[in-house]
Amino acid sequence: STAHWRHLDAAHHLHPFSNTKSLNAEGVRVITHAAGSYIFDSEGNKILDGMSGLWCSSVGHGRHDIVDAISDQLKTLDYYNTFFKTTHPAAAELAAAIAEVAPAGMRHVFFTSGGSEAVDTVIRMVRHYWAAMGKPEKHIFIARRNAYHGSTVGGASLGGMKPMHAQGGLPIPGIVHVQQPYWWAEGGDMTPEAFGLHAAREVARAIDEAGAENVAAFIGEPIQGAGGVVIPPATYWPEVQKICRERDVLLVSDEVICGFGRTGEWFGCQYMGVAPDLITFAKGVTSGYFPLGGVIVGARVAEGFIEHGGEFNHGFTYSGHPGGCAAALANLRILHGEKLVERVKSEIGPYLQARWLKLAEHPLVGEARMVGLIGALELTPDKARRAKFAQEEGTVGLLCRDISFSEGLVMRAVRDGMILAPPFTLSFAEADLLADTAVRVLDRTYAELQARG
Ligand code: PLP
Repeated sequence: STAHWRHLDAAHHLHPFSNTKSLNAEGVRVITHAAGSYIFDSEGNKILDGMSGLWCSSVGHGRHDIVDAISDQLKTLDYYNTFFKTTHPAAAELAAAIAEVAPAGMRHVFFTSGGSEAVDTVIRMVRHYWAAMGKPEKHIFIARRNAYHGSTVGGASLGGMKPMHAQGGLPIPGIVHVQQPYWWAEGGDMTPEAFGLHAAREVARAIDEAGAENVAAFIGEPIQGAGGVVIPPATYWPEVQKICRERDVLLVSDEVICGFGRTGEWFGCQYMGVAPDLITFAKGVTSGYFPLGGVIVGARVAEGFIEHGGEFNHGFTYSGHPGGCAAALANLRILHGEKLVERVKSEIGPYLQARWLKLAEHPLVGEARMVGLIGALELTPDKARRAKFAQEEGTVGLLCRDISFSEGLVMRAVRDGMILAPPFTLSFAEADLLADTAVRVLDRTYAELQARG
């Protein structure tokens, strides 16, 4: 029963990104099963999963073809590693299948268990690459404030989340954080286009200050997910690419969220019109059916690394786990077979966007934005000034999130904004339901704020 699970959980389970004391006082929600676009809790509530879990469930919940593929694989080869001169069919086939959909010239894949390990792999691989090319001094990474690159020491250091840095003495040395391209919050009086260029030039400034001869790479999410679905102005990424190329700094696209179709292109960098040297991925590669991530390596780094790198002293027990590879292969078969990336680009994506962008007419919403099936609402008491609420930052976001859940829709709060990333299989009727529910949620949040004065 719910009480039993809550009791066990409170007694023994420490949750990620949670305040255990208040969690135990409030009681956790117990999710018992899921199907299609919905999750179900232990009290019988059916809730539209507007976040695809944690940006994972691209092909929707309960896809038995993926479950069967994992099960068949584990019955055949439950586990073997990919160290020491061994591979297995699913790992080899998955590396090839990913190379097939990767941007042109990116033909090699290194597997990890998830996104944070992929990001840490990039730090070690890129530094190893530069050392192998005779430039070991090129070791500094440029990243952005308010970026999220995972929770390992390396990932949390590259990330620009202040509360994460505050716990555990991060960032590690050799990382410089620069302006994020977040026009709504930090664009001031500039137009979005001008602000995009301004933010990109901060990258140039940081590289030049550190000395390009010392800078290994720039890393960024095409769209910052956990930072609040920050969609950069169109001017930003092409300028960042130009700056990196001119200074011989590698470009890393962290596609843990954007990768495998979320933006309507296979990779977010393609939506943004840039060609990175390395791509990190996780989540959508298996639609969350099995933990798997990795790094896609472009020709330049792959050639240097393979020709001159010798042994790479790095890897994970579960690098290329057979179950994960089988899940990813089955997931890719569904993405291809049901043309889901195209569906995000030209069918369900534009349909939901049209309804979502209209939410900007609500008195509580300052900006509504969405690309493919990833979007955000900025809540504000004053649209013209892009003002913050008088309450402590995040209070209104949490209120709205809880009201949303009670109305049967998962939206996640980031500060005082709401973010959304539903499955690619969302039906048109579910998109209407989602948008209608969002209006009700905003109305209730607005009324509650008025009542509180
Ligand atoms: N990078 C980005 C852009 C992410 O959004 C995340 C997770 O949300 C990660 C890295 C870390 O991935 P994981 O939680 O699988 O370690």
